[in-house]
Amino acid sequence: MEAQSHHRLNVLFLPYPTPGHLLPMVDTARLFAKHGVSVTILTTPAIASTFQNAIDSDFNCGYHIRTQVVPFPSAQVGLIDGLENMKDATTLEMLVKIGYGLSTLQDEIELRFQDLQPDCIVTDMMYPWTVESAEKLGIPRIFFYSSSYFSNCASHFIRKHRPHESLVSDSHKFTIPGLPHRIEMTPSQLADWIRSKTRATAYLEPTFESESRSYGALYNSFHELESEYEQLHKNTLGIKSWNIGPVSAWVNKDDGEKANRGHKEDLAEEPELLNWLNSKQNESVLYVSFGSLTRLPHAQLVELAHGLEHSGHSFIWVIRKKDENGDSFLQEFEQKMKESKNGYIIWNWAPQLLILDHPAIGGIVTHCGWNSILESVSAGLPMITWPMFAEQFFNEKLLVDVLKIGVPVGAKENKLWASMGKEEVMGREEIAKAVVQFMAKEESREVRKRARELGDASKKSIEKGGSSYHNLMQLLDELISLKKTRTCEKPN
Ligand code: UDP
Repeated sequence: MEAQSHHRLNVLFLPYPTPGHLLPMVDTARLFAKHGVSVTILTTPAIASTFQNAIDSDFNCGYHIRTQVVPFPSAQVGLIDGLENMKDATTLEMLVKIGYGLSTLQDEIELRFQDLQPDCIVTDMMYPWTVESAEKLGIPRIFFYSSSYFSNCASHFIRKHRPHESLVSDSHKFTIPGLPHRIEMTPSQLADWIRSKTRATAYLEPTFESESRSYGALYNSFHELESEYEQLHKNTLGIKSWNIGPVSAWVNKDDGEKANRGHKEDLAEEPELLNWLNSKQNESVLYVSFGSLTRLPHAQLVELAHGLEHSGHSFIWVIRKKDENGDSFLQEFEQKMKESKNGYIIWNWAPQLLILDHPAIGGIVTHCGWNSILESVSAGLPMITWPMFAEQFFNEKLLVDVLKIGVPVGAKENKLWASMGKEEVMGREEIAKAVVQFMAKEESREVRKRARELGDASKKSIEKGGSSYHNLMQLLDELISLKKTRTCEKPN
């Protein structure tokens, strides 16, 4: 459905450099282009290189899409050249430096806005200052929210009513006020900046404030997944929003696109991986991943290795290295798994979309990052939930208590991987027990059935006539009307 060229919208996308934010935004930018919009993605060079192949291929197919790069101030902030992606930071200090580097780019980015004169800016939620930029240009600012309506509502009501503050212990439970379901959690499962007022709380204040001053929000979700929370979000926060997910499934159709999404080079191990998967029975393999950021401490890796092995089920496990030094335990474990053919280890980055869509996969152990959740839902897969940090514990509640497509492993502490110590380690017995119960078809029959139904609903939502499809068309029509009004109002 091509928009007519005289109405062609110019939309500028400004992504944030971490895969959980970047990948769905690039998918969305490509989606806009595939529906007639002229798209520019503004980013830094190393980030651009992770998706440029997909953009070139869309461009060669005739879509109006391009990337513009702004140099990243590596030397100025004390980072090696090319270290621009949060996923490549191996220490907290590096993360902070990337954040600082980004903050220095505001003026340059605003100059590009002036040059490009877009009709709309779709910006990551983490750039609150783009509210003023859009106001100066007289155009709508739409922010991309990279998690669930559920987590946004839960966080909003906890910050407003602070129910956890009356408890005597961080391991006691409280009920989240204001939600249509009874959801219980403990203060330990909250991110630090919600539990108490920290520097991060103050840092995030402008972000929330910018949301209510924006034209609206894009959610990588779909109506059938969390409609009650979509409604609650609308009623409570009063922010206009469009669900257009799952964008990963909408845009990445063929195996090449699925395999190389978010990755600079073609993945070398792909044929070996596919052969291994092809040798397995349908729904017999567990995919284990903690997303793009989490690097587990050595003690946890050891327990997880034993837990997976003892479960007796086949698995693919993506391990992010903490440093370049070899870990002899893991190397021996990998060798053992190669010999038994029971486990397949992927170091650092996996072609996740390709793996999840393979019929051999029967479920996923997930850290409850929103994208991994949507990608699993989209593949009709149930989940063992093992949240780590940020809003992942809220997402776990959505999966386990609301949608009932998740089984918790029993995570208790909200902690960033970089500050995780020995005390939080989940034992091998608990892990093996969770996997055995989850993979037993009888015990998880209902969970699997619901996951398959949601998978079907997600596929329908992005087809013509589906809810997400309808939302995208409606948004584009609205942006075209706004453009027309603006053009008519401009003095000659
Ligand atoms: N991802 C991937 N391969 C990996 C790790 C992550 O393709 O080895 C992708 C994954 O498919 C998802 C994104 O990176 O789209 C991670 O986002 P998510 O919200 O799941 O978690 P985060 O990385 O932000 O914790």
